[in-house]
Amino acid sequence: MTRLPPARIRRIAVAPLLGESPKGGWSAEIRPEDSIHALIAVHTECGLSGYGSVFTDGRLVQAAVKVLEPLWAGENALEPERVTEKLHQNTFWMGRGGSLTHTISGIDIALWDILGQATGLPVGQLLGGIRRRRVQPYCSLLMERPEAMADVIAPYRAQGFRAFKIGWGPFGRTDEPGLDEAIVRAARAAAGEGAQLFVDAGASDAYWPQGLKWALRTAEMLADYRVGWFEEALSPDALDDFCELRRRSPVPIAGGEVLTRRQAFLPWLVRGAFDIVQPDVTKVGGISEQRRIAWTAADHGVKYIGHGWNTALGLAADLQLAAALDAPLVEYIGGSPYVDGLLATPFQLDADGCLAIPDAPGLGVAIDAEKLARYTPEPAALLRA
Ligand SMILES: [Mg+2]
Repeated sequence: MTRLPPARIRRIAVAPLLGESPKGGWSAEIRPEDSIHALIAVHTECGLSGYGSVFTDGRLVQAAVKVLEPLWAGENALEPERVTEKLHQNTFWMGRGGSLTHTISGIDIALWDILGQATGLPVGQLLGGIRRRRVQPYCSLLMERPEAMADVIAPYRAQGFRAFKIGWGPFGRTDEPGLDEAIVRAARAAAGEGAQLFVDAGASDAYWPQGLKWALRTAEMLADYRVGWFEEALSPDALDDFCELRRRSPVPIAGGEVLTRRQAFLPWLVRGAFDIVQPDVTKVGGISEQRRIAWTAADHGVKYIGHGWNTALGLAADLQLAAALDAPLVEYIGGSPYVDGLLATPFQLDADGCLAIPDAPGLGVAIDAEKLARYTPEPAALLRA
């Protein structure tokens, strides 16, 4: 048995994605030309390259990679957890949890991709073992007025999705009596009785107007439509209210997408704020961090289903985590070119509306250079080893 020689990191490249950025339902809405995702490539001296994704403005990612360079340059890419922890530990004073943590997420995903390629194993196996080989994606869609919800959901139901999440838009944001319920009723009718349906209030939006009493009333209403979870029902820092809502709600309470770093999740998991925790692998610190959060959640009786309002590479990371952690669902944005239009072999639903988890080495997916060129000004700079 030969030992693997180190794969020294030679260069880290960043490609902000822009031009076709999908709406997020935010009150200050995303424009197509805004960059809210960036891809990262880690290139090594031995010729292996790994890829990752970061959920923030590409300009912040470019700056962060430069700031972090003295810490990653020449490091061994075959030791993802040690290298990313080194990046975290040495940058606390620059504002841990923000742009640097987001960027480290993309680097960490790329390092796991490299380790997988070097060893010939899928990342899920490196994370401890394959507990499932396929997973149900839920199609994430924005809420509209009730009369428009059939048109929002129908094309994705026709594509074969069997689980849907509707969120943001007008929900909880108007004084119109009965509007929230009318949206959910229309969505349930469009999704079909057999489909799973989840509701995301999106209370991390700017100046969220509702509080605990609204959330409690709304949770009762959602139970009538067999909604599988109620997500971000409260302002993202309202820990006490989340704990009370979880105790009293008839539907499971989900949240945590805006938290970063494993340490920040602890009070939420220990105190019982969620039935389902939704860390985002492209923000929390990457696969290394997401795995620890998910295991801590499991030890506290909380389910892990990652947040993935994301890119094809973020989804690829979510799939590997789903394999190792036996997560029953992954998030899949409906109609995002950065998910559907980036890979050489696009994701494809099977007859049950599930995705096969790639079993090729690393993340098991490959970026298509020509497709990438649609969304970033210098695609060659990312891909050139
Ligand atoms: Mg959400």
